[in-house]
Amino acid sequence: MITHVKGPLPGPRSREYLALSEQVEPRCMTQQAPIVWESAQGCVVRDVDGNTYLDFTSGVLVTNVGHCHPKHVQRIQEAVARLMNCYDFPTADRVTLAKRLVDLMPDNIDQAFLLTTGSEATEAAMRVAKRFTGRHEIIAFYGGFHGRTYGAMSMAGKTGTKKHFGPVMPGVIHTPFPYCFRCPFRKKPEDCNLFCLEFMDTVIAAESTGDLAALIIEPYQGGAGFIFPPEGYLTRLQSWCQEHDVVFILDEVQSSFGRTGTMFAFEWEDLKPNLICLGKGIGSGMPTAALMCESRIMASLEPGEMSSTTGGNPLSCAAGLAVLDIFEEEDLVANANKIGNYLRQRFLQMQAHSDFLGDVRGRGLVMGLEFVTDRRTNTPSPEITMEVIHRCCNAGLIVGRVGIYGNVIRVAPPLVMTPDEAEEAADIMEKVLRSLP
Ligand code: PMP
Repeated sequence: MITHVKGPLPGPRSREYLALSEQVEPRCMTQQAPIVWESAQGCVVRDVDGNTYLDFTSGVLVTNVGHCHPKHVQRIQEAVARLMNCYDFPTADRVTLAKRLVDLMPDNIDQAFLLTTGSEATEAAMRVAKRFTGRHEIIAFYGGFHGRTYGAMSMAGKTGTKKHFGPVMPGVIHTPFPYCFRCPFRKKPEDCNLFCLEFMDTVIAAESTGDLAALIIEPYQGGAGFIFPPEGYLTRLQSWCQEHDVVFILDEVQSSFGRTGTMFAFEWEDLKPNLICLGKGIGSGMPTAALMCESRIMASLEPGEMSSTTGGNPLSCAAGLAVLDIFEEEDLVANANKIGNYLRQRFLQMQAHSDFLGDVRGRGLVMGLEFVTDRRTNTPSPEITMEVIHRCCNAGLIVGRVGIYGNVIRVAPPLVMTPDEAEEAADIMEKVLRSLP
């Protein structure tokens, strides 16, 4: 057994830190299971009481190469002793990372603007698209999430992101995303002919002032509950952008770096977005992000019009280079598919015997398990979801919760997960589901 949890959670030392946290930290963060992390290696997390868990969250889809991968750690340690910041001056690592990232992109993308967080990348994409087109309207999606800063928040269509924080940035037009399990038009994917895409024209006819600059979309919606669009949807959306002279921004902050069984999600349908936002897995734990862009678009900006104090800093670049090496050396994309297929099969078997597991969906090593009160009505059940999370954690499996209704469990372990670890994690989930009333 890899996991080992003594007694009910939280353990005694965790309890102390949780009590202190209650006093000195705000309650506005996501409410997670009562575990105080101490260290982690690969897919295994150790808490301050010495309990060990398997991690189904990778932090939050960040540590794709595994927690504290020795090569990653070593490269960052070397970098930290050499140089920590040199704002806007190039370094050998920064330029090399930009080049290696560009080489992995579709051929229309030829530059990388290095940043620190995902929100910064989506904000940057929005600014660049406005500057390039001279227009201001952005099309975004119901359920979408692009970060918490003002522009990013304004582009969100997910509840809990902008509510009570208004007024938001003017000019964002929201249109339905294909959430086929809960289609807002009550249609079935087999014969809807992507009606939601047709409906987008109706939305734009009603909402736009005729000043469209860009469209931003996640290849799959993460925060909304791991919602994947049907095949062909993104291609049709890209064509729509081309036909309407609208900058196509793909927010791959979450979907990149092997997560969906390809290095990047644009590979699913050979997409050629004009701007691609990267984050999370690019640094695999070190705050790192990038706006991947076309030089013809970036040329619209004057020197000094965009900058970032810690963007492209030496530690993040060292981390990014180590991540790319590890992907090549360990073929993590292939492992994401292998482990992902195994887990998907196990979850589908569990679903066949569960009244509460309404939907199992995903791609590569990212899946959503959507919980419902019963599979006849498919009414979302955040309560059952929380119960599953607590029971899983007590049994040694750290899982997290997302979704428009807070009823989806995220399955997104580090991509280095071994077959033994996957089996143990699936066994825990199966036992927990069987134990539900
Ligand atoms: N875009 C997407 C698709 C995301 O999932 C996230 C983070 N969950 C962000 C942007 C924002 O990234 P960050 O939290 O690093 O600012």
